Amino acid sequence: MEKMRAVVKVRAEPNGTEFSEVPVPDFGPNDVLIKINVISICGTDVHIFNWDDWAKNRIKPPLVYGHEFAGEVVKIGSNVRSVKVGDFVSGECHIACGHCFNCRTGLSHICQNMRIFGVDMDGAFGEYISIPESNVWHNDPSLPPELCSVQDPLGNAVHTTFSTDFVGREVAVVGIGPIGAMCVAILKTCGASKIFAIEKNNYRAKLAKEVGAHYVLNPVTDNIPEIVSNETGGKGVDVVLETAGTAGAVQLGLNILRLGGKISLLGVYPTPFEIDFSKDVVFKYATIQGINGRLMYETWYRMAGLYRIPEFRERISRIITHRYKFEQFFEAMEKMRSGECGKVVMYM
Ligand SMILES: [Zn+2]
Ligand SMILES: [Zn+2]
Repeated sequence: MEKMRAVVKVRAEPNGTEFSEVPVPDFGPNDVLIKINVISICGTDVHIFNWDDWAKNRIKPPLVYGHEFAGEVVKIGSNVRSVKVGDFVSGECHIACGHCFNCRTGLSHICQNMRIFGVDMDGAFGEYISIPESNVWHNDPSLPPELCSVQDPLGNAVHTTFSTDFVGREVAVVGIGPIGAMCVAILKTCGASKIFAIEKNNYRAKLAKEVGAHYVLNPVTDNIPEIVSNETGGKGVDVVLETAGTAGAVQLGLNILRLGGKISLLGVYPTPFEIDFSKDVVFKYATIQGINGRLMYETWYRMAGLYRIPEFRERISRIITHRYKFEQFFEAMEKMRSGECGKVVMYM
């Protein structure tokens, strides 16, 4: 069997990641084999690398992890009709079953039998990946491959932002990781009137400014409720996008939200926490929206449309702050773990 080089979680422990020679993935009649050009590292990959509680409960080594990529189709299964050898593609990593209640009612992004490549099955940290035809996304061949490799987090940001009514409104983004920065870029490109970015890491605060935040506030040193109140005529922001994944971020977000505002939550919280529902939700007449994945495939079509806007492409390019060769995986992962970066990509 043909072999390839891959980054594999070989053992259930923090030091359990290694470069290995593994077989080129099998592909069935409905699958497509893709040669990878660019991969990006996701927060999920950091969880798998670190082997935290989430990873312990979910991941079964050995696993080729990674799920954000762009590449070229090299083989197709016998039933495949919509994809050709040579196509420039990326992939939606959520594989929906197609027959559960959610799949049949337009909610396949929250399929009851969801499997994720790079999490529940082998993924993109190798020379090749095999995915179902249904999950292939055709990229615009004129786009830089690295912009195509970050469509998984960009799709999260598009899904989160467009779950709210933000045009001409005052919006706060709490947490400027790569996805928070992408939310700022979308808000700026598409016409939010005032964008408050809330982040304590200086590197990331600077990035928020570069991609369009009007105000960059530090939750440790700034009196954020007072500043937001002053800058919004005393009413608070219309919309909050929470991408930090901490209790404090949600509590702050609810605090600065105006009466009748909407908060969308993309963060993943390590432990349960309390919120004052009477004060911050009921009497505030607030709407809380949880976000998971990308709408399949409405979000992808919207992303493709946004990528036709030159200044939007330029802003997302700025969020890709570090580029490595695949062979430098451990260096790239250390950069991600440091938090002194936006998006980190690797070229094959
Ligand atoms: Zn991802
Ligand atoms: Zn389903």
